[in-house]
Amino acid sequence: MELHTLADNIRKGNIRAMGKGITLIESKRPEDARKASQLLDLLLPHTGNSLRIGITGVPGVGKSTFIESFGSYLTEQGHKVAVLAVDPSSQITGGSILGDKTRMEELSRNYNAFIRPSPAGDTLGGVARRTRETMLLCEAAGYTVVIVETVGVGQSETTVASMVDFFMLLQLATAGDELQGIKKGVMELADAIIINKADIDRQKTELARQQYQNALHILRPKSRNWIVPVQMVSALRNEGIPGVWEMLESFRDAMRQSGEFDENRKRQSVDWMWALLLDDLKALFLNHKDVQGVFPQVQDAVAQGVTTPSAASRRLLDVFRR
Ligand code: GDP
Repeated sequence: MELHTLADNIRKGNIRAMGKGITLIESKRPEDARKASQLLDLLLPHTGNSLRIGITGVPGVGKSTFIESFGSYLTEQGHKVAVLAVDPSSQITGGSILGDKTRMEELSRNYNAFIRPSPAGDTLGGVARRTRETMLLCEAAGYTVVIVETVGVGQSETTVASMVDFFMLLQLATAGDELQGIKKGVMELADAIIINKADIDRQKTELARQQYQNALHILRPKSRNWIVPVQMVSALRNEGIPGVWEMLESFRDAMRQSGEFDENRKRQSVDWMWALLLDDLKALFLNHKDVQGVFPQVQDAVAQGVTTPSAASRRLLDVFRR
C-alpha cells in the first residue's frame, strides 16, 4: 500500500492500518525499516498529544489487572487507550514474562483500547526503539493515553522511564522488612507508588503506605514540581482507580504549568537521538571491512597484555578513519 494512504488510514484510527504500520516498525528487513522511517516522518506532526504512562512491578503484583481496570475507566471517561509492553526477557529466558498468557481480556474487546504485546526476540535497545515508534504511531491514530508496561528485567525500567511522562511503580503491602523487595534505583524513577491488592489487608496496606512515604522522604526528589505520592488500590475490585487518574491529572497540570513537561519530552527526544546515533555508529564501525580485518588480532593483543586498551582503541579508530 502507498505510504501516504497508510498514514491517512492510521490517522483515522483504522486498526488494520495500525497493525500494518507496526509490522513495518517491527520488521528487521532493511527495506521495511526504510518504509517505517518514511511512515513515521509522515505521522510525526500528529504525535505528542497523549499522556505517556509507564508501569512496572514484579510478576504477580497485578499489572495486567490494574491496566485492565484503569484502562476501562479511562475509556469510560472518553479516552482512547493504547497499551504497549517492553519485555526483553524472551532474549534472556527464552520465554516472555508479559506476553504469553491471555491478558486484559475485557480491555482487548474494548473498541477504544488498543493492546500490543512486546516486540519479541531482540535486545532491550531494539525492543525500546520499536516500542517508542509504536507509541508515536498510536498517538497519530488519536490515542490520548499510552501505557507502557514492563517488568524489572535488567535495565528495562530505566528504559521505559526514559520514554514516558509519568512512571508508576506497582507494589504489594508485603510489610515487615517492607522496602527490601524494591530493587535499588527503581524508587528513584517513580513518579508515584501504587500499592495494589489493598482489599486483602487494609491495615497492612496503610502501614506499608506510610513506610513507603517515609522512605520517599529520604530520596532526592525527582522533580522540583512534584511530590511522589503513595496510593492504595484494589485493581481486582476497581477501588481507588479514579483517584489514580486524578493524581495523574494533577501531575500533568503541575508539570505543564512549570514547563517541566515539555522540558522532559525535549530531553527524552535528544537522548533518544543520541542512543540511535551511538547504535548506528557502532554498527558502522563493526561492519567496516578494514576494522573487521584487524579486529581479532588487536583484541587478542589486548587480552594478552601486549597492547594497552587505549592504544588498541586508537589503532582501531585510525583504521576506521583511513
Ligand atoms: P501481573 O503479573 O503483574 O500482570 O499480575 P496479574 O494482573 O496477572 O495478577 C496476578 C494475580 O493477582 C491474579 O490472580 C489477579 O487476580 C490477582 N490480583 C490482581 N489485583 C488484585 C487485587 O487488587 N486484589 C486481589 N485480591 N488480587 C488481585
